[in-house]
Amino acid sequence: MTIKFREEIKDLEAYKPGKPIEDVKREYGLDEVIKLASNENPLGSSPKAVEAVKKAAENLAIYPDGNATLLKESLAEKLGVKVTQILPSSGSDEMVDIIAKTFINKYDEVIMADITFPRYITTTKMMGGKPIVVPLKNWTYDLDGMREAITEKTRLIWLCNPNNPTGTMFTEEKLIEFLENVPENVIVVYDEAYREYVTRDDYLNDSIKLLDKYSNVIILRTFSKAYGLAALRVGFAISSEEIIHNMNKIRGPFNVNKMAQVAAVAALEDQDFIKKSYEVNKKGKEYLYQEFDKLGLEYAPSETNHIFVNVKKDANKIFVELQKRGMIIRPIMGTWIRVTIGIEAQNKLFIKLLKEVL
Ligand SMILES: *Cc1c(COP(=O)(O)O)cnc(C)c1O
Repeated sequence: MTIKFREEIKDLEAYKPGKPIEDVKREYGLDEVIKLASNENPLGSSPKAVEAVKKAAENLAIYPDGNATLLKESLAEKLGVKVTQILPSSGSDEMVDIIAKTFINKYDEVIMADITFPRYITTTKMMGGKPIVVPLKNWTYDLDGMREAITEKTRLIWLCNPNNPTGTMFTEEKLIEFLENVPENVIVVYDEAYREYVTRDDYLNDSIKLLDKYSNVIILRTFSKAYGLAALRVGFAISSEEIIHNMNKIRGPFNVNKMAQVAAVAALEDQDFIKKSYEVNKKGKEYLYQEFDKLGLEYAPSETNHIFVNVKKDANKIFVELQKRGMIIRPIMGTWIRVTIGIEAQNKLFIKLLKEVL
């Protein structure tokens, strides 16, 4: 008897994470390794969140609050929405999964960009949906192209703003123009994983107001990036009560663990930490831009905590050579890499090693 797997998972590939720091240390006999590969916060996390986790660790035998009540209440108050409009998840990764399971039927068309967050296409295929991939223009979402790709079979559209891995953004004006032209029965997922890092003022700052006008929008946010809680896995969706109610049926009963819940509540309180993260990132970005300019390297304008840069040599080779020297970055495609903006010393070391390997 041969084992039969669902047709939909045949062509899928498992997510390939970067090598953990400890593995790289061992492999190359290095004492220090810096990882600028996964867009983590180089400042760590709010001390208030760490304190909350320590306290919560005193009792690990009890299941977490499956409803994440306190977290939902904190978020609802902060965002000015109803508690019933929020759904926390184990990282926004899990929310992408929940959304796909809630909405995508076999053969449904699902629109996304070509160079964007990889979970969009994986979960679409997993559900048997048909990915309609619209290429970026100047490394930026082509919203006109995406709108033109809508047909009667379109079920859902994934938007990431600003985008990972290119770091680019589209404006509030563009987004509103786009939403005005999307039929109401088509779900629009608006992933704002990097919203806290945006410096431009034509970005839609208050995306929550979209929900008053567009009943088909799901906003996605995470505590993994600016909030620095990637290890704990916590993100959330904000949408209409009807959408949240239905997505809530799909999630696991205790999908957000106890540490994640208490840390997220504490982190929300510590907006000074977010402000500091923004400032450090902005400075780091300006420094890296300046160094890339000196090296004559082209890059996409970033509104995130990472920069998509053309190193003009095979990205995989550069990745390996940097790794040997204790610096982990992410090769993306061809001669393009993605580097997370670190603290000053990390950025300087990155530039020094990059010069060496180039
Ligand atoms: C990092 C990232 C996420 C997910 O992060 P989680 O750790 O799962 O919350 C979601 N979307 C984008 C675009 C990201 O870059």
